[in-house]
Amino acid sequence: MAEIQVMKNILGENDRVAAENQALFAEKNVYVINLMGSPGAGKTSVLEKTMEKLKDKLKMAVIEGDLFTSKDADRIEKHGVPVIQINTAGGCHLDAPMVQKVAQKLDLDDLDLLVVENVGNLVCPAEFAVGEDDKGVVLSITEGDDKKPMKYPLIFKESAIALLNKADLLPYCNFDMAAAKEDITTLHPGMDVIEVSCTKDQGLDAWCDWLLGRVAAKQKKGK
Ligand code: MG
Ligand code: ZN
Repeated sequence: MAEIQVMKNILGENDRVAAENQALFAEKNVYVINLMGSPGAGKTSVLEKTMEKLKDKLKMAVIEGDLFTSKDADRIEKHGVPVIQINTAGGCHLDAPMVQKVAQKLDLDDLDLLVVENVGNLVCPAEFAVGEDDKGVVLSITEGDDKKPMKYPLIFKESAIALLNKADLLPYCNFDMAAAKEDITTLHPGMDVIEVSCTKDQGLDAWCDWLLGRVAAKQKKGK
């Protein structure tokens, strides 16, 4: 009982700060996506491709959540996009106060798109809003289990889009693409689902168009 109360208080405080972040991002007309997924699902690889395709079309920045290292942030930095690293020191998700702290270091007036790459984890990142407009989930088909959406329903219910990554490896994987998609849209009717491959550059233009549409919609709303 006491434990449940503690969890409620933590989430209440997180939601309060997330609302502050959201107000700031709205004022600055910055569209924010919170990108989640298991370790190794390919979040950073998707981001690298996204930067290649979009960095001349809009102004973007990345917040990298990582347990201990700056390996992913180093990969982002090579693309010439501003990146801020949050080391959670073992913490298994990002929360709103962490994002609030680092958002001050970004030039939000000069930004259209902010991607927050969450810590690799399919569970609690979905419970902690950081002030994003949308959540997105990256699921690799090499995770080998097309039942994953049903096992981790919250992350799919919370996300506006699912990227089924490493789709080029489908012939070598024991993964039923149709069944996975059906489970995802059963959990979250109307959710956007795109098959992508970073090595074969498949589906990534559709993903980037999706992002451009969201950014444009936010900027239109802000005017
Ligand atoms: Mg990563
Ligand atoms: Zn966690």
